[in-house]
Amino acid sequence: MIVAIANQKGGVGKTTTAINLAAAFALRGKPTLLIDLDPQANSSLSFLDRQQVTQSVYDVIADSSVSLKDVIVPSPVLNLSLAPSRISVAKLEAKLVGELDAHFRLKDRIETVRRQYAHIVIDCPPTLGLLTVNALVAATHLLIPIQSSYFALEGTDDLLETIEKVRARANPALKILGVLITMHDKRTSLGRDIQEQIQKVFGGKVFKTVITKSVRLEESPAYKESIFSFAPESSGASEYYRLCEEVLDRV
Ligand code: ATP
Ligand code: MG
Repeated sequence: MIVAIANQKGGVGKTTTAINLAAAFALRGKPTLLIDLDPQANSSLSFLDRQQVTQSVYDVIADSSVSLKDVIVPSPVLNLSLAPSRISVAKLEAKLVGELDAHFRLKDRIETVRRQYAHIVIDCPPTLGLLTVNALVAATHLLIPIQSSYFALEGTDDLLETIEKVRARANPALKILGVLITMHDKRTSLGRDIQEQIQKVFGGKVFKTVITKSVRLEESPAYKESIFSFAPESSGASEYYRLCEEVLDRV
């Protein structure tokens, strides 16, 4: 499975979900690759120090002489490898303008390593630009994190429109794996209202597993750990583990 984690809204839990879902696959003993497509490099820096990132996904997509396996590095998590990002990824959009295969670059590069991994997780930037489109073209599945907040559903129409465009030609097989409610506060009536509203819009697509607010989830990247090693007894660990099981049930 190649799962893209996308939502053009910023700060909704894409990176937190990408790193911990990838870590959950790895914990189950499956060789897993996490591709960081976001120039902010948050998922890379959740496991690596800045100095450890010399080559990045940028080099792979921009330059056909660099292969994906050249930039993949091991992470501190057993069974988890990382294709890191650097700030230069942001320059890609300009670089690929006018290239006929601009939307297919990542898909083509992934093809060369695909058989080595049971699962590939792609962390997308908070835009619907060329990088996110590359992820949607390369992916077999899409997971959409939605933050449990008053403005949660704003912008999802644009995301769904982009998905339809990608499906129309470049990747008809792309499936919406599910919608994940993140940073949820089930103690408040607002939290419960928002959950209901998201379920009304997305119905059965909404994962039963909901990720609640947890300081542990915020802290773990600072220690270069996944939630499973940083705080194995936390709500975040059990929720992301359950999400992983639900994801595997759906494919
Ligand atoms: P961006 O759009 O900037 O890439 P993002 O969608 O990747 O953001 P994250 O970086 O995962 O979002 O989360 C945004 C912030 O919220 C981070 O500081 C993160 O640690 C925190 N956060 C994510 N999930 C939770 C949670 N369940 N409980 C508490 N804090 C969370
Ligand atoms: Mg992010």
